[in-house]
Amino acid sequence: MDTVIGVEGLVKSYGRFTALHGLDLEVTRGEVHGFLGPNGAGKSTTIRVLLGLLRADAGHVEVLGGDPWRDVVALHRRLAYVPGEVSLWPGLTGGEAIDLLGNLRGGLDEARRAHLIERFELDPTKRGRQYSKGNKQKVALVAALASDVELLILDEPTSGLDPLMEMVFQEEIGYVKEQGRSVLLSSHILSEAEALADRVSIIRDGVVVETGTLDDLRHRTRTTIRVTLQRPPAAPAELAPLEDVHLDGAHVRGTVEAERVGETLGALGRFGIEALTATPPSLEDLFLRHYGDDAAAPASSSGATASPSRHGRRARD
Ligand code: ADP
Repeated sequence: MDTVIGVEGLVKSYGRFTALHGLDLEVTRGEVHGFLGPNGAGKSTTIRVLLGLLRADAGHVEVLGGDPWRDVVALHRRLAYVPGEVSLWPGLTGGEAIDLLGNLRGGLDEARRAHLIERFELDPTKRGRQYSKGNKQKVALVAALASDVELLILDEPTSGLDPLMEMVFQEEIGYVKEQGRSVLLSSHILSEAEALADRVSIIRDGVVVETGTLDDLRHRTRTTIRVTLQRPPAAPAELAPLEDVHLDGAHVRGTVEAERVGETLGALGRFGIEALTATPPSLEDLFLRHYGDDAAAPASSSGATASPSRHGRRARD
């Protein structure tokens, strides 16, 4: 596998406060990698090290085969960065800012530039000082997505966009991926990562606690089963391997490891199954395993955001 971002054992402190405690992260060529964690987890600190804006205290960091601290000029021609809070030159128009940013990198694809300005409904004739937060973000996104670069590093890039523009962003990232480019997408919007990411890494208190494809992560956690039985069991233990069993007459709810769902159906079948749903964990469920049940957010994963609790207990370990 071709690694575009390789981080091993990254440590970074701000004075006496250690923000990253030996963080590992790998992004391979051509993938969209979701970098997930609530505010304060260490995503931006990691990204600032990847961009050569902060120097690592310890650990190994490689970006596109180079050292981000030493090879700043060469690397910044090959990558584009969009922060959550974009600052623009107040006197330049959006169009001028896009061209300037593109020229600092490997150059701009003019057809893509025009297409993206239209898709994001951006008026490129306004000056930097006149744009709202969302429009500044659009300027930075157009410049990044139209640039001829191998790697996009996006730190909460849609925090100022409305839902319609979020959809445009998702479609355009799909196109970037088709072109074989790589994307590190830091987000606390789980539905965005669920829609886009080939693999995700979940960061908690400055370390990556879980990494893999969504399918991998789902297999490492539990499926929820809801079933209506013809004959209620006398005790939850009769339904093993179903665990966390909640009995309400004939209605039963419980959880089971993904690989034991078939076995569970056998156990439930002895009581006659009238209705059954099996729900694999959403990214939000996976996330809450690491951020604790006191951080519980709404049950649906669509549009859900990660809770900022940094001290939550692990819900299921
Ligand atoms: P995230 O991007 O996941 O929200 P950050 O990397 O911004 O997290 O922050 C990680 C931790 O480091 C937080 O506790 C934050 O308060 C702290 N931190 C970030 N920047 C600084 C700084 N310049 N000085 C001191 N502490 C900082």
